[in-house]
Amino acid sequence: MPECTNCGSPVEESDNFCSNCGEPQNEQARNKLDRMIDKQAEKRASSGSTGMDDREELIARVSYALGFLFVVAGVSVLPNPGGVPVLLGGILLFPPVRLLSARAFGSPLKVEANAAIAAILALIGAAVYVLL
Ligand SMILES: [Zn+2]
Repeated sequence: MPECTNCGSPVEESDNFCSNCGEPQNEQARNKLDRMIDKQAEKRASSGSTGMDDREELIARVSYALGFLFVVAGVSVLPNPGGVPVLLGGILLFPPVRLLSARAFGSPLKVEANAAIAAILALIGAAVYVLL
């Protein structure tokens, strides 16, 4: 029985790839794998060059504008404690902060969820501001 050229595991004559390490076992399989990798790399490169799509870019801009407004509003009512949640909501709206949530939750918070949390924080802030 032939052996894998990479790891030495026994492979079938008919196998294109090693079942142990995935190494291509003939020229045809190697070419096929190369083409697949090239295609993946091309796909990645082309999606990277266009950057964000229109919707994401719009969301990012609106998020920045709203976040800035919230932060300014929050700071302007300080030291009233109502400013604190508004300020936090504003910071939360900034796109880089949303991306940081990916570290905490495994994937970034959905835009809608993020906006809802910011809105709730703003409402809490407004309520505290009015009540105190
Ligand atoms: Zn192998």
